[in-house]
Amino acid sequence: MWRTPTPRKAYQVLLVGGGGHGLATAYYLARDWGIRDVAVIEKGWLGGGNTGRNTTLIRSNYYYPTSARFYQRSLKLFERLSNDLNYNVMFSQRGIVTIAFSPHELNLISRQVNAMQLNGIDAQLLSREDIQNLLPLCDLSDRARDRCVGGYLHASGGTARHDAVAWGFARAADAFGVDILQQCEVRGFEASHGRVSGVHTSMGRISAERIGIAVAGNSTVVADMAGFRLPIRSHTLQAFVSEPLKPLLHTIVMSGLHHLYVSQSDKGELVAGGDGDSYTSYSQRGSFQTIERATLCLLEVFPTLSRVRLMRHWGGTVDLTPDRSPIIDRTPLEGLYISTGWGTGGFKAIPGGGRSFAHLLAHDRTDEFAQAFTLERFSRGALIDEGAASGVAH
Ligand SMILES: Cc1cc2nc3c(=O)[nH]c(=O)nc-3n(C[C@H](O)[C@H](O)[C@H](O)COP(=O)(O)OP(=O)(O)OC[C@H]3O[C@@H](n4cnc5c(N)ncnc54)[C@H](O)[C@@H]3O)c2cc1C
Repeated sequence: MWRTPTPRKAYQVLLVGGGGHGLATAYYLARDWGIRDVAVIEKGWLGGGNTGRNTTLIRSNYYYPTSARFYQRSLKLFERLSNDLNYNVMFSQRGIVTIAFSPHELNLISRQVNAMQLNGIDAQLLSREDIQNLLPLCDLSDRARDRCVGGYLHASGGTARHDAVAWGFARAADAFGVDILQQCEVRGFEASHGRVSGVHTSMGRISAERIGIAVAGNSTVVADMAGFRLPIRSHTLQAFVSEPLKPLLHTIVMSGLHHLYVSQSDKGELVAGGDGDSYTSYSQRGSFQTIERATLCLLEVFPTLSRVRLMRHWGGTVDLTPDRSPIIDRTPLEGLYISTGWGTGGFKAIPGGGRSFAHLLAHDRTDEFAQAFTLERFSRGALIDEGAASGVAH
């Protein structure tokens, strides 16, 4: 699928982190700017970070115009990604149904739907009857603890195979001549007169004119090596899958009240996630109380699943900013750039974020889509608060 090259002494551009964002950035740099003297440096294996650990939801149901425009562009890139990469990423636009269980929740959902429609993103309010038709397994009986009062549909939302996204970008970038260096850890940066000139890695020193960091939950650790601080906290977010079942859930389902998001994979497994762990951690494994709570939430909405067995669970280390929006920006070191803060929702942003980060590395300025996602917004107070953007507030 891609070569295993020996690292060269110097490259024009280095990308630290072989997750979706690092790989997509390398691909767009090569394809759209002809910058092919590029290496992606990954300390483990490709997609071994959050890119291969997420619940694969892709959507653009954001509230603020800035975020809506950014995520909508990424969703549009997903629509043609399999063709662009000549690799099937199994993008399936099966729609996302968000359920409301109180009049207050329905009010908030109406406001969200209005905002989305104003932003040109598909959103449709649903009645209780619509929900029953779309989700016959959902408990709408009088015995249900929480009474469903309606919801909304984001029809263009969907899922894609996460490994395939990493592998597709890697193969396509490699075909352009990008070197992908796995099992190579960045351990320090070299700089002189305020300008970065290279990295120290487990495979030796590599110099570069420009360096991009895309290491998600390790962002603060890597930034520390370069001598600057980030407004990021690293938390564990976990997910789990059930044993495979016959097709029973034809859309993605979300409930803010229950903090639930669940879909059914093509293999038949129910893929569900819950809340993040409340304490900071780099452990990449989940805690049992979170699984217990997430499972209870699943059963509140779908009690009929009570005998379904949990098959496996895992955790990833997510990079959370105070406003839950990303950072795509320069750093205090000239020639060093960062893409981070993707938190619990950066899988869907891989094509859009990669394209914007490539633009920044190529031109030393962000494109129109990423202009607001600066580092200095935290000192100016110009936050883009998308804390509840997923319908579940992480
Ligand atoms: C359980 C879970 C569920 C999620 N669900 C969704 C979802 O449904 N939809 C969605 O859009 N997003 C979701 N996300 C978030 C999404 O997965 C991430 O935002 C996204 O994958 C981040 O991609 P990345 O390329 O920035 O990071 P990663 O994929 O984590 O890649 C970073 C890479 O950097 C490498 N690295 C770190 N330090 C170094 C170093 N010193 N030297 C070299 N390499 C280094 C790591 O090994 C890693 O491979 C979820 C995340 C988790 C954990």
